[in-house]
Amino acid sequence: MRKKIVAGNWKMNKTLVESQALITEIRGIVRDENTNKAEVIICPTFLALPSASKLLDGSTVKLGAQNCHFEESGAYTGELSASMLKSVGVSHVIIGHSERRQYFHETNEMLAKKTTSAVNQGLTVLFCVGETLQERESGSHFDIIKSQISEGLFHLSAKDMSLVVIAYEPVWAIGTGLTASSEQAEEVHAFIRTLLTEKFGEAISQEVSILYGGSVKPDNAAELFSQMNIDGGLIGGAALKARDFFDIIKAIK
Ligand code: PEP
Repeated sequence: MRKKIVAGNWKMNKTLVESQALITEIRGIVRDENTNKAEVIICPTFLALPSASKLLDGSTVKLGAQNCHFEESGAYTGELSASMLKSVGVSHVIIGHSERRQYFHETNEMLAKKTTSAVNQGLTVLFCVGETLQERESGSHFDIIKSQISEGLFHLSAKDMSLVVIAYEPVWAIGTGLTASSEQAEEVHAFIRTLLTEKFGEAISQEVSILYGGSVKPDNAAELFSQMNIDGGLIGGAALKARDFFDIIKAIK
C-alpha cells in the first residue's frame, strides 16, 4: 500500500528562533497524538535545517528542504547541493514548486537535473506540478502536467521512482484560498497515475504517492484526502500553525 504523507512547506517564513519553536511544538503534538496514519514531513528554510535535524532526532517527523541545486559543488553563489542537505540530516527535498518555476525561471530541464542529483544522494523528491489559471481555463492543463511529469521525471529509472512523491498543486489554488474541488483534483491525480503506468508499469505507478497542494485547510482536508488517488497533502500557509497542520494530518484516514 502506498504511503500517506502530509508535508509542510514553510516557504520564506520564520526566523531561526521562530522555526525552533514551531518544530518543537509540531514534534510534541505528533509524539503525543499522531496515530501514524500519515508520514509527516516539515520543510523549513535552509537556515533552520541543521538545528531542525537535531530537534527532530528520535521523532517520526521527517525533515525536508525546499530546493537544491543540480550540481554537487562549485561556483554557484548562494546555492546548496543535495549532498549538503543530506549532510545535515535532510531526507526529503521539494523540487519544482511553482514559485521556483515562476520567480526563478526553473525549467523542466533544470528540474530533471535536480531530481537526478537528489535521488543520487538518496533524498526523496517531492516533485511539484500544476497548471496556471489561464492554462486551466484554456483547457491545456492536462498537456502542461504531462510535459512537467515526462520532462521532469521520465529520465529516472523504475528503481529511482521509489524516491519520488508527486505533488499536484494548481497554481491558481496556491495561497489564494481557492481550492480545487475534490473531483477536479482527483481527475488530475488519476491522470498522473495513468502517465506513470504508461511509463513505469502498473506496479510502480501504484506505489507512488501523489499529494494535493493548494489552500488545504483543516476544514477541506478530509474531503480531498478521501479521494482514491489523493495520498495526502503539501501544505503551505496552514503548515505554519502547529494545530492547523496537525488537524490536516488527522484528516488522513
Ligand atoms: C504550497 O505552496 O505548496 C501551498 C500549497 O501553499 P498553500 O497551502 O498556502 O496554498
